[in-house]
Amino acid sequence: MKKRRRIYEGKAKILYEGPEPGTLIQFFKDDATAFNKKKHEIVDGKGVLNNRISEHIFKQMTRIGIPNHFIKRINMREQLIKEVEIIPIEVIVRNIAAGTLSERLGIPEGEVLPRSIIEFCYKKDELGDPLVAEEHITAFGWASPQEIDDIMALAIRVNDFLSGLFAGIGIQLVDFKIEMGRLWENDVMRIVVADEISPDSCRLWDLDTQEKMDKDRFRKGLGGLVEAYQEVANRLGIMQKNEPQRGTGPVLVSSNDDTKE
Ligand code: 5GP
Repeated sequence: MKKRRRIYEGKAKILYEGPEPGTLIQFFKDDATAFNKKKHEIVDGKGVLNNRISEHIFKQMTRIGIPNHFIKRINMREQLIKEVEIIPIEVIVRNIAAGTLSERLGIPEGEVLPRSIIEFCYKKDELGDPLVAEEHITAFGWASPQEIDDIMALAIRVNDFLSGLFAGIGIQLVDFKIEMGRLWENDVMRIVVADEISPDSCRLWDLDTQEKMDKDRFRKGLGGLVEAYQEVANRLGIMQKNEPQRGTGPVLVSSNDDTKE
């Protein structure tokens, strides 16, 4: 089999060169990391679930005109995506206080925010993805003022869409992180949603029980991560319990990250 060129390896995904120029293959690993990789475990089946959940969400976004990088799912662990120039900013949208917002501002977890809040973090693992202001983004040239306007408008659209999608299946969208990139089509550049949207990058609480159905189960050592992701997939109607989570696609057999706790 022809060896594919690896373009980038992140904490939970690998990007390979795609079959045609301007495309990439996004591979979902089973690695779960938290606290800037200080906590690291392999969670069997997580990659397959995230691939399917993210596919579902990106397809729905395409249907309602939210621009994004997704082309198609290839197999249980991989999807074909458009190559974009990633903007080095994590865009976080919050509806309910939790996580670092609660820690930073002393707002009790679970308090409904007066309105949705958008935050930006600089994507830099060595620095622990620090919170930054628009001033930093424009001063250091990570994005222009016009691009920040587009990023915020897109983030709000994604929040409205995701909030409705999850509310419809009895899940509260507490907050989420998305990444965006620049996509050129016929000399025209536009900002599109990239990366993934999954329980790894969202806080999802059961509407009735407030049970956590996201990566906080791993961060807080609550256990039952795959079961929670599986429940999200089931409610979205995309993956039944008896489907193999390992699937038929390529499986990552080793990880050279020894930061396991
Ligand atoms: P917090 O800042 O409270 O830790 O996270 C806010 C939201 O963004 C949560 O839904 C969290 O899962 C997501 N998030 C923040 N940073 C990252 C990251 O580096 N990776 C992933 N997958 N999600 C993140």
